[in-house]
Amino acid sequence: MTETKGYAAQDAKTSLAPWNFQRREVGPHDVQIDILYCGVCHSDLHQIHDEWGGSIFPMVPGHEIIGRVSKIGTQVKNFKVGELAGVGCLVDSCRECENCKHGLEQYCTGGQSYTYNSYEQDKKTITYGGYSKFIVTHEDFVLHISEKLPIKGVAPLLCAGITTYSPLRHWKIGKGHKVGVLGLGGLGHMAVKFAVAFGAEVTMLSTSASKEKDAKKLGAHKFVLTSDAESLKTVKGYFDFIVDTVSAPHDYNLYLSLLKTDGIQICVGVPPTPAQIFGFSLLAGRKSLAGSSIGGLPETQEMLDYCAEHNIISDVEIINIKDINSAYERMLKGDVRYRFVIDMATL
Ligand SMILES: [Zn+2]
Ligand SMILES: [Zn+2]
Repeated sequence: MTETKGYAAQDAKTSLAPWNFQRREVGPHDVQIDILYCGVCHSDLHQIHDEWGGSIFPMVPGHEIIGRVSKIGTQVKNFKVGELAGVGCLVDSCRECENCKHGLEQYCTGGQSYTYNSYEQDKKTITYGGYSKFIVTHEDFVLHISEKLPIKGVAPLLCAGITTYSPLRHWKIGKGHKVGVLGLGGLGHMAVKFAVAFGAEVTMLSTSASKEKDAKKLGAHKFVLTSDAESLKTVKGYFDFIVDTVSAPHDYNLYLSLLKTDGIQICVGVPPTPAQIFGFSLLAGRKSLAGSSIGGLPETQEMLDYCAEHNIISDVEIINIKDINSAYERMLKGDVRYRFVIDMATL
């Protein structure tokens, strides 16, 4: 084991603070990455406060990890020391179930190993995330990162990027589709960028008029203020798809009414309480309410390569790790455009 430094929450009530912990030695199939940047995801905040239940402490959050390979195991075939590499939300999976065999490790039925707040496949070693100096990960769960893009803006692609790219690809969303993106935050701003890049007509749906300028800058073709009844009327029965990125409680029935016949509302955000949905919201117009969770390893690599080719990155604000707790407070108020990324040189 090698000692390393990170920032951890010791329980659900305390703020993040420096903490020393152990990482495993680099095994034959492992890649060690010296972390340069790590994105700050809303789920980091949910999990350190144990809002989803079952949190494991101490917890080192962070699953939008970018750095350079500093060591490789003797059997590693796909990575070299010195190259850029990334780790997203997953560090391992059972590799045997139907989903794993199809590159859908995010839906592993044998129990996937998340990057933090989770266990390795031995089901007892706790995983620690990217708010740390380095990480040791099996090469099958490490991603290649292009040198073409500014890596600060690439880090959030590993969660916010793939979370929105995957459903857009799954439902083959593109030219000829009218897409509504609900909520303009870390996920929403990436959903807009991808949907526009895929050729869809994109409408930003937001409760905040101040987001209109930004939505247009991101490439959205239209903006609808959802708190304004007149504005909403213009898009009743309008959309083929709505990508719902909101993780606060909201009325699903209202947004289903904006779909046309056979329309699909795809949820990628997780509100803390169950939603009430009227049967008629779905029956009238044969509509679907669907969900999608992050992405598997092959698709995450495909997304990173697509972004490198099409010059797509996340809009980020770089922070010092000492400011992580105040960054969380700002995130709660929606005061970030659109992702905080920690400069790990400040650790
Ligand atoms: Zn995330
Ligand atoms: Zn599996």
